[in-house]
Amino acid sequence: AESGEKSSLVDCNVLVAKALVRAGIDRMFGVVGIPVTSLANRAVAHGIRFIAFHNEQSSGYAASAYGYLTGRPGILLTVSGPGCVHGLAGLSNAAANAWPMVMISGSCDQKDFGRGDFQELDQIAAVKPFVKFSVKAKNISEIPNSVFSVLDHAGSGRPGGCYLDIPSDVLHQTVTESEANKLLDEAESSRKIDPIKNVTKDEIAKAISLIRKAERPLVVFGKGAAMARAEDELKDLVEKTGIPFLPTPMGKGLLPDTHDLAATAARSLAIGKCDVAIVVGARLNWLLHFGEPPKWSKDVKFILIDIDEEEINLRKPYLGLIGDAKRILKVLNKEIKDDPFCIGRSHPWIESITNKVKENVSRMEAQLAKDVVPFNFMTPMRIIRDAIAGLGSPAPILVSEGANTMDVGRSVLVQMEPRTRLDAGTWGTMGVGLGYCIAAAVASPDRLVVAVEGDSGFGFSAMEVETLVRYQLPVVVIVFNNGGVYGGDRRNPEEISGPYKDDPAPTSFVPGAAYHVVMEAFGGKGYLVGNPEELKSAVDEAFRARKPAVINVTIDPFAGAESGRMQHKN
Ligand code: ADP
Repeated sequence: AESGEKSSLVDCNVLVAKALVRAGIDRMFGVVGIPVTSLANRAVAHGIRFIAFHNEQSSGYAASAYGYLTGRPGILLTVSGPGCVHGLAGLSNAAANAWPMVMISGSCDQKDFGRGDFQELDQIAAVKPFVKFSVKAKNISEIPNSVFSVLDHAGSGRPGGCYLDIPSDVLHQTVTESEANKLLDEAESSRKIDPIKNVTKDEIAKAISLIRKAERPLVVFGKGAAMARAEDELKDLVEKTGIPFLPTPMGKGLLPDTHDLAATAARSLAIGKCDVAIVVGARLNWLLHFGEPPKWSKDVKFILIDIDEEEINLRKPYLGLIGDAKRILKVLNKEIKDDPFCIGRSHPWIESITNKVKENVSRMEAQLAKDVVPFNFMTPMRIIRDAIAGLGSPAPILVSEGANTMDVGRSVLVQMEPRTRLDAGTWGTMGVGLGYCIAAAVASPDRLVVAVEGDSGFGFSAMEVETLVRYQLPVVVIVFNNGGVYGGDRRNPEEISGPYKDDPAPTSFVPGAAYHVVMEAFGGKGYLVGNPEELKSAVDEAFRARKPAVINVTIDPFAGAESGRMQHKN
């Protein structure tokens, strides 16, 4: 009897894995080591794919982006102390972007805390600024409840980061199989998620009356609408009413960039002149110029649709509709249909936007048409754009970071499908690229992943190209290599003095760095290209192969501008 009882013991690692699986988790990102190696192994044994990285920062970025792409919290597993600290990068990025993510870290033995134990840290205190909710499981019996709580908090309301702390002594505890199942059942049945609010009839009526009276309405949508998977409802809204739309950078693709009503190429006009803006799942933060003059008209009336009541209270819009974007738009569309007032397609507002779009697009196309060698940013971006267009559907997921590379890429690269763009985001986080690539490939195995990033963005976590090779992920990383942060040494010679004046500029890297060889070191495919023919052939081959590749594109170090379009802030 005794041996029977022993064989049916469940250790804490298994209990965590079982709880995660019950909650529907099937992917995990992280770096193993003391005390969480068994946890990763148990998770794998229970059917969870564990993607092992080189550093927690990159795997944290992956977990956050995975949460965004799938709508279910991305999980990051880290070791104690320094592992937890490195993981804060991902957790903070999830908080800033409002993406669902859970970090699970091992921590030192509870009885030795405060005496200088191995990798000791008050991890609950360390994560505090970056989480919606955190919990330390002080005993194995608390595991199921703690796992469900962090997942539920991360994914409900405005999504964000949560943290689960499991001390090493708890990881070594066991319970019998029947106790384990009882704990899981009880925790599962006591799970509760706050219901999402419904908007009232009056609020919808007020929104419709405002839209109806508008002379120059605009629909703006962002990554909250993408989280809500509101693409069909947005399509209905703009096509039923004829109102032009403007996506935020990561909202791009919810409706195709090539849509007749896309005002992206007339952004300044659209936001500067609109009188009613229906903003769906996008914060009126720096990215949208706080919704204030001079970029916006001082008389613009905002209808804000957001899941977060605090966001509405902060912005004080003319009308705030609190709730899930998809559900609210459904109701709004239904009511608009019942009373078919529409702004006509021959309306002067639409005409002025369409004309401006045409003018700006043809100016940009003239720039793009030139083959400039050594490469500026435009010529290689056109070649990449055309190669991506050639792939059709399913469109690749595009990962973009860097100053000029991201700025130019945002205007030139075309997004046709929802949730196919990941960039530096709300925080302007650089170094996210490789983690995002891995998350995207894991989240959407049918899609190719194409990163278009600067050499400095790539360098943050270039070692993760090994991870791409190890898991054979279909990721093509195109590095715009201009030899540094912003490229060449742009300092005024008179500013350079002092004992270290002969050091390279703080913005410079080794010129001509062979980043493609880094990929080759692990058995992936590397390309070095410097002219249109070379780039075209490399991109075509790499896209067709759907294997890990780095294309090292030599860019003129003095092309582009310092700080890209953010010069005024540097
Ligand atoms: P962007 O960077 O695209 O402008 P933000 O991250 O600033 O977008 O804003 C996204 C907003 O969407 C956040 O305020 C968040 O609360 C909100 N949001 C998240 N999920 C939903 C949802 N399901 N429905 C409505 N709003 C949502």
